Amino acid sequence: MTALPLVFDAPRRALPPRHLADLDPAQRRAAVGEFGLPEFRADQLARHYFGRFTTDVDTMTDVPAAARETLRGLLPSLVVPVLEQSCDDGATRKTLWKGHDGTRAESVLMGYPDRATVCVSSQAGCGMACPFCATGQGGLERNLSTAEIVEQVRQAAAAARDGALGRPARLSNVVFMGMGEPLANYTRVVAALRRITSPAPDGLGISARGVTVSTVGLVPAIDRLTAEGLPVTLAVSLHTPDDELRDTLVPVNNRWKVSEVLGAARRYAQATGRRVSIEYALIRDVNDQPWRADLLGKLLRQDIGARFVHVNLIPLNPTPGSEWDASPRPVQDEFVRRVLAAGVACTVRDTRGREIAAACGQLAASQV
Ligand code: SAH
Repeated sequence: MTALPLVFDAPRRALPPRHLADLDPAQRRAAVGEFGLPEFRADQLARHYFGRFTTDVDTMTDVPAAARETLRGLLPSLVVPVLEQSCDDGATRKTLWKGHDGTRAESVLMGYPDRATVCVSSQAGCGMACPFCATGQGGLERNLSTAEIVEQVRQAAAAARDGALGRPARLSNVVFMGMGEPLANYTRVVAALRRITSPAPDGLGISARGVTVSTVGLVPAIDRLTAEGLPVTLAVSLHTPDDELRDTLVPVNNRWKVSEVLGAARRYAQATGRRVSIEYALIRDVNDQPWRADLLGKLLRQDIGARFVHVNLIPLNPTPGSEWDASPRPVQDEFVRRVLAAGVACTVRDTRGREIAAACGQLAASQV
């Protein structure tokens, strides 16, 4: 068994100060009580924050001025945008933001005809070391706090509402596919999921069905998530169906093998009734062979069940300095055909944000 201490031991960098979004409703009331204010002020504050997406206490006119000043203490600015870039005719917007200690991370807001999605980071950097991913090359800087994760979503919801995507839109989807391994920052990510999916005034009220947590396959953490009873969508970054190659593409495979990961995915699907999404970055001549497509389809049918799984192919987004490239179109088409022939749903992901280095695995890497 290979020990991977780096995976779990984030460097002990200080997390940011306490923020409203770190707290559940009971903790919120207690915090307001500590300030000597009546507890119902906590609900008022939450209504403004989660319902109106605002942190500007001066607009909270139902709260007396003196109390507003006190409540400001629960709204430190944690996620400060330092750079915004757009592409795809304004339908994709990347925000580079800075944390209280100068840590940098990114979020990407994407508009579609029928929905608006934000891709958020769960850690600054990442300890998983996948060789094709730009974030993986720099190692883990620190975990993000619950509020730093929720703040990315709140700011995206406000931006979408205010027309940042060209017209007012409601933020409907959140994907944990930015920087970091969400299940390696488990407690904070689960608290953030609760804040994101609880109805206002306790949370942002985004349907759990619209929230996707993407993981390299940390098996015990997937099982813990299964037990949380949060029906979010689980995405597993498989990238190849065989252990030999996966040991190098997703190094945590040295700890939890393909069959164990698929077993955990099946338990998740059965418990939640939600289809698991299998992420597969197609890399030319590395993992795009017809036999791998056949093996993928066979294993998914067998180990998860065709009803409970969907393959999401991602054309590789080449990272600077790597010799790897996306598969040619005919190879990609044949791969899709073979997975479908096995009776497993398979689609190719639309790759937004390439021109602004906002595509998969490139978040913040261009800034170092
Ligand atoms: N750590 C999590 C979530 C972050 S990345 C995970 O690995 O699932 C979100 C997805 O983008 C993952 O499937 C990841 O493997 C993929 N990805 C990373 N770098 C990529 C690249 N250069 N091209 C295509 N997909 C990439």
